[in-house]
Amino acid sequence: MITESGVVGMTLIVCESLVRIYQTGPVEVQALQGLDLVVEKGEMIAVVGASGSGKSTLLSILAGVDAPTAGRAHVEQWDLLAMSRADRVRYRRHTVGFVRQQTASNLIPYLTARQMVDLPMTAARTSAGERRKRSAELLEALGVSAYADRKPGQLSGGQQMRVAIAVALANQPHVLLADEPTGELDTATSAEVFGALRDVNRDLGVTVVVVTHDPAVSGQVERTVAIRDGRTSSEVLRRTATADDGGTHVIAEEYAVMDRAGRIQVPRDYREALALTRRVRLALEPDHITIRPDA
Ligand code: ADP
Ligand code: MG
Repeated sequence: MITESGVVGMTLIVCESLVRIYQTGPVEVQALQGLDLVVEKGEMIAVVGASGSGKSTLLSILAGVDAPTAGRAHVEQWDLLAMSRADRVRYRRHTVGFVRQQTASNLIPYLTARQMVDLPMTAARTSAGERRKRSAELLEALGVSAYADRKPGQLSGGQQMRVAIAVALANQPHVLLADEPTGELDTATSAEVFGALRDVNRDLGVTVVVVTHDPAVSGQVERTVAIRDGRTSSEVLRRTATADDGGTHVIAEEYAVMDRAGRIQVPRDYREALALTRRVRLALEPDHITIRPDA
């Protein structure tokens, strides 16, 4: 799927052995420790993981807001480790839309919803007529056209989030990155906001990467990527199957992720169940590999 030269087919995002080290004085924090991730065009994936596992760091890098320390990160034709300042501006303006983790940080208190959606288009020198048309369409698509003339303080948390999504989509990005968009919302409201993201993915064809803590959200996308200690540890794929009686049900299968060097992470409960520690025995069978305790 991935070649040395880069990306083939419909692959949109490729991260390989991605590393981000934060240096604060003498202290070094390895926020990403060799993360691998591939996202296909048109996909909607959820990223899950404990607090501090590196989810926001990953999204900031993909958003072009933060730069990786090492590894590879490509989005479309862009190499995120080797972008000029001008490219970065272009990338952030046209390729990605970003909804940040704190709801309030996405909106400007003294602007109305309509003015906020208008702003990124003004920066991109879109004509006034086009801006008017597009902001009306987006506010409508996100179900907030009735609140177009309200400022953030006059909107509920869910409405604010939907306006923030509309702002992120203003310049028709190919990728929408949303960092815990439902984190501060109650169950019903977060279902609405998540539904809006799904509509954006399905109706506008935008590739969506959403970070979430909410199992109800991750349970509804076809692929969930779990991050642990700054690396991708497992993926859950979901597909709908039709039973003999014609009814449909969702099958979820968990996969371990193997990096290019062949490393995989064995889940803690598996390790504990068989007391696997530093050394294990591997054996190649005709169609599988066994891992045994070193006893
Ligand atoms: P998550 O979003 O999964 O909670 P983050 O990506 O925010 O995780 O953080 C991953 C790790 O990097 C944490 O240990 C965090 O404290 C650290 N970190 C994140 N941003 C910075 C920063 N700007 N400076 C120093 N350390 C940071
Ligand atoms: Mg975070």
